[in-house]
Amino acid sequence: MRPSFLPRLINGPFNDPGLYISFLFQKHALIFDLGDINGLPVKDLLKISHAFVTHTHMDHFIGFDHLLRVMLGREKNLSFFGPQGFLKNVEGKLAGYTWNLVDNYNYPLCLQITEVGPDFTLARSYRCRDRFEPLHEAVRKPFDGVLHEEPAFRISAVILDHKIPCLGLSVKERFHVNIIKEGLNHLGLEPGPWLTQFKQALYNHTDPATKFEVQSPERQTIKQFPLGKLAEQIAQITPGQKITYITDVMYSDSNMKKIVEFAADSDHLFIEAAFMEKDREIAAEKCHLTARQAGEIAARATVRQFSLFHFSPRYSEQESLLYREASEAYKSELYTKQRKE
Ligand SMILES: [Zn+2]
Ligand SMILES: [Zn+2]
Repeated sequence: MRPSFLPRLINGPFNDPGLYISFLFQKHALIFDLGDINGLPVKDLLKISHAFVTHTHMDHFIGFDHLLRVMLGREKNLSFFGPQGFLKNVEGKLAGYTWNLVDNYNYPLCLQITEVGPDFTLARSYRCRDRFEPLHEAVRKPFDGVLHEEPAFRISAVILDHKIPCLGLSVKERFHVNIIKEGLNHLGLEPGPWLTQFKQALYNHTDPATKFEVQSPERQTIKQFPLGKLAEQIAQITPGQKITYITDVMYSDSNMKKIVEFAADSDHLFIEAAFMEKDREIAAEKCHLTARQAGEIAARATVRQFSLFHFSPRYSEQESLLYREASEAYKSELYTKQRKE
């Protein structure tokens, strides 16, 4: 299966956490956490439409300013999501700058900020043109675990404990459309941007009788097919891709239960592993996981692949020990789990 989401950690494991998720063949991306994001090229930052902040400790939020700076003066709508207190945090940041010259920009740049409480969300909008004064009172909506939904995917959150509320995040494709190469060959079609539109039509439940146009790469020829007939020949539907991101959580029964359930069957789990098991008391004190705990969670949630990040600087030059510890815990936990089943 060729994945639709292309997630990558923004920094090395000793630097600020953050996951950049781009979409195959699309100028569209999401970001989980806004720590130091200076390593991301401007062209990648400009693709971001939605930013999700797990909590507002500095190493997860200092990049807000940088992202805003890059977006200023653009024709953009940007949505931000964060935990309880997030509206106040963002308003504090916006209040930290002087906005008297923003009338010169041609575009308004709109920010939609949502904070996530235990069972409701509060959302408020701000416009650069209005010097980021709030446009209205916060709008309250019930929260059922879903933060954002599009026809092709949804983004969910779970509220975890880091002595403060901290969001676990996941992005899940509704279903995955695999393109069958032989089918394309058989119809004399070549892959191109039209495939993105084709997939979009399937996600949008477009009537199968609709005529769908396929342009050749040089736009010399246009072929038409009923959407349903084309789908029968070139598409195979499989379960959607799931990416989960867990960071800054204490090792407690309640957190573990929530994480394992939330991350279940992820194709790729990105999980913090700040400490080694020998330092688990420090990990507990600082409300972080050990590499061993991270590996066990990955196995219990039956994820296909996992990546570690957010290592404590005390292990610099020893990162292989953290990877090894997590991988051994993963294998042994998986073995125990399979024997029980
Ligand atoms: Zn952190
Ligand atoms: Zn933290």
